[in-house]
Amino acid sequence: MKTYRKELRFNTPHRRDFVNITTDVEHCLKESGIQEGLILVNAMHITASVFINDHESGLHHDFEVFLEKLAPEKPYHQYRHNTYEDNADAHLKRTIMGREVVVAITQGALDLGPWEQIFYGEFDGMRKKRVLVKIIGNI
Ligand code: ZN
Repeated sequence: MKTYRKELRFNTPHRRDFVNITTDVEHCLKESGIQEGLILVNAMHITASVFINDHESGLHHDFEVFLEKLAPEKPYHQYRHNTYEDNADAHLKRTIMGREVVVAITQGALDLGPWEQIFYGEFDGMRKKRVLVKIIGNI
């Protein structure tokens, strides 16, 4: 069995952003040379997510509206966490959108459904963040 590890780096221009990282993950898979196995992609921060969904801008707007209804950013003082920070909403949004995805690798490719794309979800951006890519399998 072979293993591979890489960190993807982000510094998004806004507090909240969705970034399609499917191509970056595919690049990692090619670099690993692994043909059959599993790939784990996880946010290394508790205010960011990795999730799989459709690459469609209307849907990304809908996610933003949905998440703001459930855990609005403001007013900051509505959250107990915000005594020394202002990012309680980002922690909650990350919990809703999830920490990681696991995708099967078949014949050297991501075995995704027809419309599935992998996204990095940033909820407290404009600073350096990382995503871990770990691959295990056979060449
Ligand atoms: Zn915090």
